[in-house]
Amino acid sequence: MTSTPSLIDQLRQWWLRTRCPTEFLCDNCKYDHPSACLRPQRPNAIKCPDYQPR
Ligand code: SF4
Repeated sequence: MTSTPSLIDQLRQWWLRTRCPTEFLCDNCKYDHPSACLRPQRPNAIKCPDYQPR
């Protein structure tokens, strides 16, 4: 079963992206560490469902 982000999640991601002060989300993400994030787009993610501001 595939899951699509809910509208709330999409809005939340849009809002976080809009408020991010850096070009890449990772530069402002608390998971920006090799042991905390295994996503291939790190450290240059511009879109990420796991992004959490520091
Ligand atoms: S969770 Fe996403 S935004 Fe955060 S470091 Fe990993 S790839 Fe970057």
